[in-house]
Amino acid sequence: MRFRQSVYLFLAFLIVIIFTSCQKKTEEKVTTESTSKPNIVLIFADDMGYGDLGVYGAREWKTPNLDQLAADGVRFTQFYVPHAVCSASRAALLTGTYANRLEIFGALDHTAKHGLNPEETTIAEMLKANGYETGMVGKWHLGHLSPFLPTEQGFDSYYGLPYSNDMWPHHPGVKDYYPPLPLYRNTAVIDTIDDQSMLTTNYTEEALEFIEKSKDKPFFLYLAHSMTHVPLFVSDKFKGKSQQGLYGDVMMEVDWSVGQVRQKLKELGLADNTIIIFTSDNGPWLSYGGHAGLTGGLREGKGTSWDGGIREPGIFVWPHHFPAGKVENQAAMTIDILPTLAEITGSKLPDLPIDGRSILPILEGKEMEPKPYFAYYNRNELQAVIYGKWKMVFPHAYRSIPEGTVMRNDGIPVKYHMLKLEKAELFDLSTDPNETTDVAENNPEIAAKLKQYADTAREDMGDALTESEGTGLRKHGRIE
Ligand code: MG
Repeated sequence: MRFRQSVYLFLAFLIVIIFTSCQKKTEEKVTTESTSKPNIVLIFADDMGYGDLGVYGAREWKTPNLDQLAADGVRFTQFYVPHAVCSASRAALLTGTYANRLEIFGALDHTAKHGLNPEETTIAEMLKANGYETGMVGKWHLGHLSPFLPTEQGFDSYYGLPYSNDMWPHHPGVKDYYPPLPLYRNTAVIDTIDDQSMLTTNYTEEALEFIEKSKDKPFFLYLAHSMTHVPLFVSDKFKGKSQQGLYGDVMMEVDWSVGQVRQKLKELGLADNTIIIFTSDNGPWLSYGGHAGLTGGLREGKGTSWDGGIREPGIFVWPHHFPAGKVENQAAMTIDILPTLAEITGSKLPDLPIDGRSILPILEGKEMEPKPYFAYYNRNELQAVIYGKWKMVFPHAYRSIPEGTVMRNDGIPVKYHMLKLEKAELFDLSTDPNETTDVAENNPEIAAKLKQYADTAREDMGDALTESEGTGLRKHGRIE
């Protein structure tokens, strides 16, 4: 009897030990999971140029917070958007896929009956399926009708403008074409905006509120500023601050906003467990003169596939994971952000094929084979491909400002004219970032390789310039 009692006692003891150790394991697992699911803050500026940040060469105004961000992480010198225009660039960013593949071109306005196809998977949807709280603040521009709004594309909450801030009744080129500019909260229009001077401040406050409210969960915040897109507006606290005119003041307010977000993360003890990414949708809208940003000397600007249109600041920060103060010369593109975040967070990639690849090795300071090619489409025209430091530009017409034009500084654009590139040209961006000298003749093998890459892109996504039909195109969403 006594022996039996001892056996029972021993068994009970064993059960308690096993149970406790299991519980410990679960706790450990939870801890690992929480560190492998860092918060993500993606800040996307509008029409901000490669040269607009102090750390990228701007001397005209100060951007201390963005410069500090770069000092704390990896700063790319060759970071690209695939399309130098608002809606297309945003579709590519959020899906990791070329926007022409998704039938999203140009900039959608209030008459658009279409938007990003709800069948596509956005970064928000991907992370939401992995337990993230997802919020968007700012400019959407992927369809303003209800099936296409952010809340239908994976965002738990949304506050901002459905399209560009110049799509309003005071547009300098098309007076009385646009209705009042609507401000949305989730799916409802809560106001129309006539004075935009509080836009950057209001976006920032909304972003801070979202962070505060989501602090106990892994969260994804997409903060897409309307600035520095024309018409430029700045709050009183930044009026005259740059002593360089309105554009500089607006730059400084966006910079302030980045500082506010970082400050909030710090206050909540979240800074170490949060990835911050900063970039912009396309280069400066040069025809606006003093109301446009800086390309840092790159050729042309917004709306073109020259580097002034497509090369952007690209900063990635994750303390203790990404090296601090790293200047990275390997090329990467916004379509790489989705797969990179998928790898970091262990999220499931979209079912439909995407075009980007994870650049986590680069962010961890390693070398990667250059991506076979990056394609640059303007609508359905394949205008350029980039392979590492090599760029081939194909014959096409592009907009440019006529020589001798007197530029304005009052928010009124000058007129572009069209120029034509007559033959394919090859540039070595490492020695000639401004694309001045065609080196195809001296590098026949590289030239042949890039031509072949272009043929592959044409077979896949088509090309209006060579009248090629692509086999890999998908459809946007549309309301008939
Ligand atoms: Mg833009």
